[in-house]
Amino acid sequence: MINYKDLGLVNTKEMFAKAIKGGYAIPAFNFNNMEQLQAIIKASSETKSPVILQVSKGARNYANQTLLRYMAEGAVQYAKELGCEHPEIVLHLDHGDSFELCKSCIDMGFSSVMIDGSQLPYDENVALTKKVVDYAHQFDVSVEGELGVLAGVEDEVVAEHHTYTRPEEVVDFVTKTGCDSLAISIGTSHGAYKFKPEQCHKDPKTGRLIPPPLAFDVLDGVMKELPGFPIVLHGSSSVPQEEVDTINKYGGKLEAAVGIPEEELRKAAKSAVCKINIDSDSRLAMTAAVRKVFAEKPAEFDPRKYLGPARDNMEKLYKHKILNVLGSNDKLAN
Ligand SMILES: [Zn+2]
Repeated sequence: MINYKDLGLVNTKEMFAKAIKGGYAIPAFNFNNMEQLQAIIKASSETKSPVILQVSKGARNYANQTLLRYMAEGAVQYAKELGCEHPEIVLHLDHGDSFELCKSCIDMGFSSVMIDGSQLPYDENVALTKKVVDYAHQFDVSVEGELGVLAGVEDEVVAEHHTYTRPEEVVDFVTKTGCDSLAISIGTSHGAYKFKPEQCHKDPKTGRLIPPPLAFDVLDGVMKELPGFPIVLHGSSSVPQEEVDTINKYGGKLEAAVGIPEEELRKAAKSAVCKINIDSDSRLAMTAAVRKVFAEKPAEFDPRKYLGPARDNMEKLYKHKILNVLGSNDKLAN
């Protein structure tokens, strides 16, 4: 049993309370390799932002959970080397789908876990979430629950349609489970294809697809029922068009990739939404940079020569999110 506190990590409790009060949101960036982690830590350290490192089940399978845990421990030291005396870094399990998986992460040094029972019948979701909370809270580990179903694909989590969160259920769910934060469904979704073209309309100036707005009435309803309670948005990549264009220019084939407009996320970050999950945007930034090098320098075969630019491009993206969308910069104690 390893306690996250010994690794220099923190849970989400104080971080979320401060974010709600301050009207900003904490970035939750997924990682599964070294370059991503370097970019995340460099961006968050240089902007003095707290950060949540997310590990999905797929990432655990890809990179090995032991290695990821040590990488997170290394991340704390790296942040200090970069001049962050008091980094606030959370190691979080994204979309835990069983008690056993959550327990294994907690035992290994994670400071926060998500138990996603959103696809289960309501009572089973409550029972599973409560079981995880009861275990996690013994070790001061935070737990994120989910009500409502997001459309899209994330690892093995696939759903055809959204089911918006029902505000009338949230008080009962939070009271019965004791969870520390709640992921809700208001129209965000996983992946780089969040909306079908027929759901969107075209911007007359740019010809780009504009997605339907998020259901802020559902968010308002939840906040009314649970004043001051930490809310989480999954599937909140914006799918930057310049990255999509670069990918397509250099041989990629991403058609009609659409994300959540940053304007809407900026609005959400100012509310009780205190954790915003971003994964696809970093995948796009990485792929765009790699494709560009491959196309422009076909003789290059040193991985550092294409993973380096990929890392730089991700760092730029993470900084942009922190500074211009979430507003989590300059929130660390010096
Ligand atoms: Zn998610």
